[in-house]
Amino acid sequence: MSTALQQLEHTYADAVPDLVANWAAAPVRDPAVVVRNDDLARELGLDPEALQADGLLTGTVPEAVQPVAMAYSGHQFGMYQPRLGDGRALLLGELVDPQGRRHDLHLKGSGRTPFARGGDGKAALGPMLREYLMGEAMHALGVPTSRGLAVCTTGEEIPRDTGMLPGAVLTRVASSHLRVGTFQYASASHGPEVVRALADHAIARHYPEATDYLDLYRRVVHAQAELIARWMLVGFIHGVMNTDNTTISGETIDYGPCAFMDRFDPETVFSSIDHAGRYAYGHQPPVARWNLARLGEALLPLIDADQEKAVEAATAVVQEFGEVYERHFQAGMAAKLGLREPDPALVADLLALLHAQQVDWTTFFRSTNPRDLFVDRDAFDTWAARWTPELDRDAVNPLYVPRNHLVDEALTAAERGDLQPFRDLLAVVTDPYTEQPGRERYTEPGTGPFVTYCGT
Ligand code: AMP
Ligand code: MG
Ligand code: MG
Repeated sequence: MSTALQQLEHTYADAVPDLVANWAAAPVRDPAVVVRNDDLARELGLDPEALQADGLLTGTVPEAVQPVAMAYSGHQFGMYQPRLGDGRALLLGELVDPQGRRHDLHLKGSGRTPFARGGDGKAALGPMLREYLMGEAMHALGVPTSRGLAVCTTGEEIPRDTGMLPGAVLTRVASSHLRVGTFQYASASHGPEVVRALADHAIARHYPEATDYLDLYRRVVHAQAELIARWMLVGFIHGVMNTDNTTISGETIDYGPCAFMDRFDPETVFSSIDHAGRYAYGHQPPVARWNLARLGEALLPLIDADQEKAVEAATAVVQEFGEVYERHFQAGMAAKLGLREPDPALVADLLALLHAQQVDWTTFFRSTNPRDLFVDRDAFDTWAARWTPELDRDAVNPLYVPRNHLVDEALTAAERGDLQPFRDLLAVVTDPYTEQPGRERYTEPGTGPFVTYCGT
């Protein structure tokens, strides 16, 4: 076995054996690397050239490595599903990088598992490239996120709504895959002792300073409040904020029908599966808080033996979400506007104005002539009379985000075998603050309709 494989650890499976199923990846007929993240590999202390031979990109690993499928449940669009879990994903193991940080190495699209339900266990190339691209863009924007290590095609064609598509496996790296849904599953299927073991693992892994389980809960609530504020500041819409996609670490995971908003409108929905607009841009903070309340429920028995007291304590903590979110959002908006101090009233009026006049979110903050973006210039002038930017704004406001129409175009080309548009877009969005000559079209908003192809 290679040293990289020997180094894989399994502290999660050891801590909560009830929450994993030992499993192996489906054999891959004809693996071919489509994109590989050499910088990330080196950060992890891995040799990029050796990744594929080691089987890390498709899960072709010796039995001794023992990958696992992780169990979880979750509220999907508000409806509780008692048994979800990694239906087409596997945790290969954990890797401690040269800085001592622990990461999950995780495969997506590696075949059916005991949690596959009706699914085929497979993933199509387009959606895996989308996850890779969005993760790298978010990382470049300073938003905590899982990241793609590579995407490999499998040589197999898989059936999807739109026809036969190239199959692919994504290798992703995250500080862990502990989700609110993992706690819900531990609570509903096993009870307080397994929840305790899971919470102890979460504390050791993410919040070693936590003083007790209520403090663990507080730290997760605060991490998520900060994360969602960062999403809002860059105009990111996750699209599937189910409790199984809400992490304990405070990282973004699971890029499905997600998108960056063009024109500012809090009701913006891209996802073709989000018919009710539950996960619209402007709903994200209250939805995150709702998801965190579900985590609080699972933790109640650990918080206090007296359930009434536990509920009271957990309620007080989840209510901190609003204040922490607002602090991060207002600090971020102040930076975007070049202000030394937050100015919530100025921000509120700006948001109303951007909405009323359908101004592009990303363009506004980077524009040297924002006035020209408004139809009603007098309304802008009235607002701008109160706005005195004092700090450099170009360092905090991206010029390039993966706009939905560009992502669609790149993925459509990739599925036809032309990877150049994907590579060009990746290069632009991973260097989002620096103006790149000849890249003007990447700054332009799409013209709609704003629906994300929700392939899997
Ligand atoms: P998601 O909407 O991506 O968060 O996935 C929700 C659940 O569906 C998770 O349990 C996934 O593992 C599962 N799932 C999604 N696609 C497939 C598939 N093609 N085969 C098996 N399970 C899947
Ligand atoms: Mg998911
Ligand atoms: Mg998904």
